[in-house]
Parts: sequence; C-alpha cells; structure tokens
Amino acid sequence: MRGQPNLALARRRAKAVLATLDIPVPWSLTAFLSSIERQRGRRILLVPSTMSRYAAVASGLWISRGEEDLIVYDATASPLHRQNTVFHELAHMLLGHRGRPLSGGTQGNQPPLMMHRQHYEDQLELEAETLAYEMWRAVGQRLLTRHGTAGRLAGAFEAPPGVRHA
Ligand SMILES: [Zn+2]
Repeated sequence: MRGQPNLALARRRAKAVLATLDIPVPWSLTAFLSSIERQRGRRILLVPSTMSRYAAVASGLWISRGEEDLIVYDATASPLHRQNTVFHELAHMLLGHRGRPLSGGTQGNQPPLMMHRQHYEDQLELEAETLAYEMWRAVGQRLLTRHGTAGRLAGAFEAPPGVRHA
C-alpha cells in the first residue's frame, strides 16, 4: 500500500478499534493495559529505556516476542510524552500492524519482531497516530465526565452547600 496515506481510511480503522476498547474510569493506564492484555491474550510489558540505545527511534518501539509484547519508551520523557508513546505503540498492536523481523534473529523458534517508525509504511504510521489521538480524546472525555459536566455544574449552583429548601 504505497503512495499517499489515506486519512479517511485511518480514521475508519481507528474508530473501529476504539469501539472495542474499555477506557477505565477513573483513568488508569495500568487498568487500560490489563484490559488490552485480556482482550489479546498476551502480556504487555512497559520497558523504560534511555532511547539513545536506539538512536534511530523517535520515542518508542514495540517488540513482539513469544507470548508477550514489550513497549520500550524513553524514561527521560515527560509523563504525557511517555503515555503518548505507549498509546502509539498500543495502536500499532491493536491495528494488527506487523513489523519486519529483527535482523539477526535469536535462539527462539520465532525471531522477535521489532516495530518502529522506519519499519512501517506511511499509511500504518498515520493509522497509529490517528488511533493514539482517538485514545487521548476518549480518555479526556471520561475525565470530563468524572469531574463534572456542564449540566452537573449547573445542578450544583441550584442548591449551594449550606442552603436548604424548606
Ligand atoms: Zn509508529
């Protein structure tokens, strides 16, 4: 699928995956990861690293090996940036993207697959970015709901604390 990335297709795929996800309330990345582990039947490990070891990598990568998936993120990044990296790599996983086998292989039956920017076509990167964005939006909406919608705020003004109706 070479050529111009297709944003409409990326949005359709992102929304289809998002509909299958369980966004925890209150928001917890750990709980979110657990629900995705249950959904996929595979363990997900977050691996902090200083990304200088992976000089070619922007901010994170996904390593698929055996029965588990590793998300390597930059330990020196801000918490928001880290969560964004995790969302991006989760998006690749959930969208069913496949990387190229790690060159050299290892002593397993199956060499680990290492996925990062250079291993994806532009369309797949766009899809991952789009789904990561949809995850942020969904999490944000849950946070708003939890901390009070405009409607609830309006309700609170009708009966301020300490004021009782006879
Ligand atoms: Zn990517």
